[in-house]
Amino acid sequence: RAAHEGILRRQSARESAARTYARALPIVPVRARGLTIEGADGRRYLDCLSGAGTLALGHNHPVVLEAIRKVLDSGAPLHVLDLATPVKDAFTTELFRTLPPEFAARARVQFCGPAGTDAVEAAFKLVRAATGRAGMLAFTGAYHGMTAGALEASGGATEVRVARLPYPQDYRCPFGIGGERGAELAARWTESLLDDTKSGVPRPAGMILEPVQGEGGVIPAPDDWMRRMREITAARSIPLIADEVQTGVGRTGAFWAVEHSGITPDVMVLSKAIGGSLPLAVVVYRDDLDVWQPGAHAGTFRGNQLAMAAGTATLAYVRENGLAERAATLGSRMLTQLRRLAEEFPCIGDVRGRGLMIGVELVDPESAPDTTTDGPRPAAPELAAAVQRECLRRGLIVELGGRRASVVRLLPPLTISDEQATAVLDRLADAVATVAT
Ligand code: PMP
Repeated sequence: RAAHEGILRRQSARESAARTYARALPIVPVRARGLTIEGADGRRYLDCLSGAGTLALGHNHPVVLEAIRKVLDSGAPLHVLDLATPVKDAFTTELFRTLPPEFAARARVQFCGPAGTDAVEAAFKLVRAATGRAGMLAFTGAYHGMTAGALEASGGATEVRVARLPYPQDYRCPFGIGGERGAELAARWTESLLDDTKSGVPRPAGMILEPVQGEGGVIPAPDDWMRRMREITAARSIPLIADEVQTGVGRTGAFWAVEHSGITPDVMVLSKAIGGSLPLAVVVYRDDLDVWQPGAHAGTFRGNQLAMAAGTATLAYVRENGLAERAATLGSRMLTQLRRLAEEFPCIGDVRGRGLMIGVELVDPESAPDTTTDGPRPAAPELAAAVQRECLRRGLIVELGGRRASVVRLLPPLTISDEQATAVLDRLADAVATVAT
């Protein structure tokens, strides 16, 4: 207990003001397995943050540990820049095996710096080089990372070379109608911006989208809208970049979230779960976009052998054990139960998600709805923060997200059992009940 308090105190004094999770989650993890984290104070938690969706197999899954140990014990080098190795060969083979077949058939992979944001930068650089154009299309509420280019494309950023387009959603629809019509209007908006010759907006180098916005508040894009984006970009020779950093590796109930709509993007940006808990990021793209000269994209840490080995084990395990399908069935059951909870508690404005990427939006039950009909009530970030605190007291770790930090997010490992899922929902329901009264 004293060690726990000491570590928290020292770190909060020494770390930057930009600390995020560490503020809301004052715990000191010392051990972890599967869904469970144990703190230095001996308390145990169910971890539905999962390294912001990284831990597809949960903490310290035996197959991941074994893969890492095997490399360590083999005497293989741990760091070799971008040289070819058996470990890299195995990873690339497994990755290509999981990719949508039409995409994999003509795919090239570039290993990037360790984080998702590095792969986003690489994707932007690639499509700019391939098209000779500069602008980028991105969506309201998007999150692509914290380096300059990725940040520019993320919601709330000062737009420099990025044109912002409406991302469709039912709840808080930018056009106030939601559903298919709302999504169609969002698509038309995009079309008219691209075809508006009078405004002189130059044709962009690419469009980047998340099949489900994660940090933006768990907003799944409708499949029809995804297909419309594919048609609109294809008809104008604009490369489409699917950012599957968070949605990939079974999370949404398909191995890759683009499979739900059946589209084939030109570029895919992958990170988080592909490294099986360790840092790894790649950009994968169609071969005709491979216009780079040798050295055009580099980076010291492109060759993390441990991450590749852990990643190979994770990808293979998800594929062989049908964990994407498992995420789909368990996810829809959890959504149903959460929707029942929403009927009971008016402070839950919306429940949404796809697979095991789930969001519960907290709203102010006292305020009048935003619009004349039964539109959404104002977002309640303070209620969401209170739910997060109450969850923590009950031994449940959840993340907050959304444009106004009013969405409680669940990103459990795909290996979560039915009993554990029930425990998660019970604790969350209990936390909501406490906050609501
Ligand atoms: N894209 C998406 C969709 C993400 O969710 C994230 C991280 N939350 C990133 C990119 C950036 O990844 P990283 O934090 O590893 O740079």
